[in-house]
Amino acid sequence: MAGPKAHEWIADMAPYVPGKAKVDGVSNPVKLSSNECVYGASPKALKAFEASVGDLLRYPEADSAQLRRAIGDVYGLDVDRIVCGAGSDDILTLLIHSYAGPGDEVIYSQYGFMVYPVQTKAVGATGIAVPNKNWGADIDGILDAVTNKTKLVFIDNPNNPTGAYLPWSEIERLHAGLPDSVLLVLDAAYAECVTAADYKAGEDLVERANNVIMTRTFSKMYALAGLRVGWAYATPGVIDILNRVRMPFNVCLPGQPAAIAAVKDTDHLAASVAFNKEWRDALTAGLSALGLDVVESQTNFVLVGFPTDGPFDAASANTHLMKNGYIVRALPSLPHHLRISIGTAEQNRAVIALLTEFMNGSPE
Ligand SMILES: *Cc1c(COP(=O)(O)O)cnc(C)c1O
Repeated sequence: MAGPKAHEWIADMAPYVPGKAKVDGVSNPVKLSSNECVYGASPKALKAFEASVGDLLRYPEADSAQLRRAIGDVYGLDVDRIVCGAGSDDILTLLIHSYAGPGDEVIYSQYGFMVYPVQTKAVGATGIAVPNKNWGADIDGILDAVTNKTKLVFIDNPNNPTGAYLPWSEIERLHAGLPDSVLLVLDAAYAECVTAADYKAGEDLVERANNVIMTRTFSKMYALAGLRVGWAYATPGVIDILNRVRMPFNVCLPGQPAAIAAVKDTDHLAASVAFNKEWRDALTAGLSALGLDVVESQTNFVLVGFPTDGPFDAASANTHLMKNGYIVRALPSLPHHLRISIGTAEQNRAVIALLTEFMNGSPE
């Protein structure tokens, strides 16, 4: 049937599939599938959100100036190089739409954040998925993949869904090998919960180079995923482009004061990071003790490898967790793994107990 016709490259796109939230026959499942931070947001952020109710007939501040100032103060950054978005997905998407189109190439890792391939497809550009190395990005593989058509290189550091990270020296090496015409996107969604000493999110490279952007989010360790607030730090030329293409009121009115209160509450963040590390270590140790292959994580989730065949495979483990009301993330690209977000103490203990039962139990 004739009718309006979208770009042909969009017609055969697969839509983004978010983490499951429901299980048939279970009334209140525990959702550990989207890397949300169950420790919760700063109580000051929640109060600021509630206090904004009376202002909802107003448009929010168009340039998120107060939020940018708060981020700049807390992180010691130049406010003029900060741009805010409706989650960092907003900014990642705008970057692809601004810098790539049909005939251009966008490089990312084979196991990496889904938004890069999806939005690359949306603009009709060609995605180049470089195989990972030790679960992180393979810098040499990425440099080998660069051509004169390359417009963007995405590195999620730490990586989602693997949880692995690259030390800063590797990011420097990548940048040194890239032509100046390629925009290097350092997606640091999990920066706040990294505890490795040789990690940096990327601000100093942004200040030194003219082709680097670092993206950050309030969705993970600040525990405000529902508000959709993200930000980026970039060179003035890139900030200028983003300010032209973004929607004028892209950060919602309650999101701005809530994020300001969240970023200022450094004590709350530190407590949340400590909780996250304690349980990341405990889950890693507890699941490794079962003979499972847990990828070393710097994030708020763990990627767990199961035997590739036989009764104790990832699909059966997922069924066992699901039957008991626990939703974790099964990834089509990694059929022998499950990605498990860190939950409350009680939920984490239950995950270990359920998987212990599964690994010790008779096959189903
Ligand atoms: C969660 C996540 C994001 C962004 O989330 P927003 O909620 O859009 O800010 C970006 N990159 C990676 C790798 C993520 O895991």
